[in-house]
Formats: sequence, C-alpha cells, structure tokens
Amino acid sequence: MTEIRKIDSYRWELPRTGDMRVPGRIYCNKSMLDAIRKEATLRQVANVASLPGILKASLAMPDVHQGYGFSIGGVAAFDWKEGVISPGGVGYDINCGVRLATTHLEEKDVRPRLDALVNALYQHIPSGLGSKGSVSLSVAEEKKVLRQGSRWAVENGFGDESDPDYTEEGGCLPQADPDEVSDRALERGKRQLGTLGSGNHFLEVGVVAEIYDEKVARAFGLFEGQVTVLLHTGSRGLGYQICDDFLAFMAKHVKTLPFSLPDRQLSCAMIQSEEGQRYFRAMACGANYAWANRQILMHQTREVFLRVMGMGPGDLGMNLVYDVCHNIAKKEEHLIDGKKRTVCVHRKGATRSFPAGHPDLCRAYRNVGQPVLVPGDMGTASYVLVGTETAMAETFGSTCHGAGRVLSRKAAKKAAKGRSIYRELEDRGILVRWTGRSTMAEEMPDAYKDISEVIEVVHNAGISRKVARLKPMGVVKG
Ligand code: 5GP
Ligand code: MN
Ligand code: MN
Repeated sequence: MTEIRKIDSYRWELPRTGDMRVPGRIYCNKSMLDAIRKEATLRQVANVASLPGILKASLAMPDVHQGYGFSIGGVAAFDWKEGVISPGGVGYDINCGVRLATTHLEEKDVRPRLDALVNALYQHIPSGLGSKGSVSLSVAEEKKVLRQGSRWAVENGFGDESDPDYTEEGGCLPQADPDEVSDRALERGKRQLGTLGSGNHFLEVGVVAEIYDEKVARAFGLFEGQVTVLLHTGSRGLGYQICDDFLAFMAKHVKTLPFSLPDRQLSCAMIQSEEGQRYFRAMACGANYAWANRQILMHQTREVFLRVMGMGPGDLGMNLVYDVCHNIAKKEEHLIDGKKRTVCVHRKGATRSFPAGHPDLCRAYRNVGQPVLVPGDMGTASYVLVGTETAMAETFGSTCHGAGRVLSRKAAKKAAKGRSIYRELEDRGILVRWTGRSTMAEEMPDAYKDISEVIEVVHNAGISRKVARLKPMGVVKG
C-alpha cells in the first residue's frame, strides 16, 4: 500500500493494486508526501480509485488531508453514463467556496480606520455555528433561492447585476430541484441566509502584497498595495442537512448495487439512476444557496465599508473578481485519450482551474483564464492564481483549495495552550474578531500547512499559475 512511484518533484503515483480501477496521483513535494503517509489519506485515495466509472486517476492536491470517505483536497471524475456520484465526495458543506472583491482603496487609506472597520464588519456579518441571518425567508421564497442562486440575491437588491458573470457557473446550477430537499434542511436554511458560519469560515480585509504576473493581475483588476476582501463560507445548515440526509439514503441504496465498497463512508449511487439524480438535484440546491449566501454577504460588506470609510460606491469601487466553489460535483466535458467525454467531477476541497479559451469563462477572463482563489490562513497569506491548460490535461481542470490542515482541531487547541494567538497576530498588524470559543486556537496559522509551499507545488506542476499574493489586515472569523 505504501509503494509510491515518483513521477517528478511534484507528482507521485500510487500504482494500481487490489480493487483499484485506476492509479492514484498525488501532487506534492517529498516532505509533504512524508507527512501525508502518516494519515489514512493515501488509503482514501486508493479507495476512491476502486469506485465504478472512475476515469484516469484518483487525484490528490498538495493541501490534501483525511476526510469523510474521500480525503479533503481530492478530485475524482466519473463517466457520466457508467460512473457514480457520492455525497462524501462533495462534503458536508456543499459549495463551500471563496469570493474575492477588489476596492479602489490602498493600505494607507484603511490602516487608520482598521479597528472601526473590523468591529463594524464583526457586528453586521452574523457569524458562529447557529447564527441567524438578517434575511429571513418563507419556505416558498427559500425555494426560489435554491432554484436561482446568485440571481435571487441580485434581484433582491444584494449586489450588482453583473456579479453572476463573475461567479463560477453564473452562480446557479440549473439542475436544482427543491422538492428533493427535506423539510428539516429547509427549516435550517430559512434563517441562515446571509451568515458566515463557524471557525474555518471568514471574512478578511487584505492587501495585495506582491504581483507575480502583471498582465493577468491587470485583467483581474489587481494592483500592489490594493485593499481586497476575501470571503469564505458555504451552504450552512441547509447544505449540511442535505448531505446528511443523502448519506443515510445512499448507505441503504448502495447495498442493492452489484459492487462492494472498501469503506462505508463512500456510499454512492450510479449517476444515471433515480437515486443518483435525486442527490444531484438536491446538491445543486445546496450549491445555489451557498452562492446566494456569499452574494448577500459581499453586499453587506460593501455597505459596512461605505459607512465606515464615509465614501460613495464609485470611490470605494468594490468589485467582484470571482467566486469559486471548492466542494461540489459538476457535469463537465473533458478530453480523455483524445476523446470528448461527459464526466461528473467531484471536487472536495479542490478548486476549478479552467484555462484561457474555455467556453465556461465569462468574456472578461476568456483570454486569460479563470481566477483561482486559494486562502492560506489568518496570519500568513492567501493567493490568487490563474487556471491552465495543464490542469485541463491532467486534473480535470482542478487545483488546490487552501493550505490544508496539519493539526486536528484538538491538536491545535493543545498547541495553543498558554499562548495568546490574538496578541501574536496583533503584533504582526492583523486584527481579528471571532465568535467561536475555540476558534483562535483551532484556526491559528500553525494549524495549517505552509501556504507558500502548497502554492509552489501547484505552480511548478503547472496546474495553476501564481498571479498575486494577499496578506491579511483584518479578519472576522466564525
Ligand atoms: P476549508 O474549506 O477546507 O475549511 O478551508 C479552506 C482553506 O482556507 C483552509 O485549508 C485554510 O488554508 C484556509 N483558511 C482557513 N481559515 C483562514 C483564514 O482565517 N484566513 C485565510 N486567509 N485563510 C484561511
Ligand atoms: Mn471551504
Ligand atoms: Mn465550509
């Protein structure tokens, strides 16, 4: 099981053994591989490789770590006719994702008011596990959100008409059918639209610290010294409940299928079956809810900026660069052995990385490629990259989604004992406001891998290319 073949400095192959239908492939460097070997991650990569209809390889990005059934940082594509779809391959937080907005402001404009700004953001953006949002919905209206995604938010006054163009899939998966969503999930979702959620989710005011690719940065509207807003959240209790409901449903269903699973957590259905399609339609509802959620939160963030900075929308110029999802299953077309195939790509803790020329990109990015947004941690950095042809050829157009955890939440709490993480960050000019009792310990920079090392891997492997580095100034954490 531990036999791994080196392809080059950033690519490793887990050869086919046992029930594996395809090999595993891991994008990382040698020292990351040594760390990954200590967890069940490679076992999980191999397990996924045994699922029916999997194409090419079971993939792991450098931020990979152990997850529910499928590891986080994993990518797996299944043939649309002969493959499976699995809730564990998407994750509990359906369409957890990241959006980045630019402003016309520079660091020197914001520094003097940073305290007031972060306080106001903390006050107006509901955060924490069970937090309620400012948007309360009837079930009938909630179902519209589930069908329309970002468009619902825009039509109800949250943000610009053009924002969906700058959102993956236009901020809406058309397959969504609210009739597949349980009453319990709808009940949880009713009060949580416009909320950040718990610890790993955040709203960050940052600065562009370095540009690596001038031309692409310009196309994305980025310049050195510019103040940015980075937002990370997902589908809240609604998505969690959809995942939970369908895991239970598929655990029973999978027993009726003519193959056995190496791990119960990989329960799934054939994509073409009624059961598989039902999950797909429900998952799409979770995805659309998450897009509406991020759209609303960005609008509220803009309003706080306008008030605290005492300026008009034209002067502030808060524009959406892009919104990406990193927990999702998508119907996409990919070239495999020179043939165009329709596939179901599961990206769980992985980001789409489509290159210039891809028809799914909006006009503004058609000639450069899609913005890839990769948060690091609240004390170090986050990166903007751009999608590449290499990703298209090797990883079903995918790359990493973050730094990835190195310490479990429990281990992080232990390591933070006797330290004030808040002070440590404040000393580095980073102001944090948070809700969860253990958030600061669980989310401290040491809990995550070194983001620059992760970025070097995806950049050097060529599955996305560095455009800019952002450094944090003020962070609101769940
Ligand atoms: P996940 O969706 O897997 O929970 O998180 C995605 C990534 O976000 C993590 O792997 C981590 O690198 C990054 N991250 C978590 N908290 C923060 C934060 O407060 N600020 C920034 N910039 N990144 C974070
Ligand atoms: Mn996430
Ligand atoms: Mn999430």
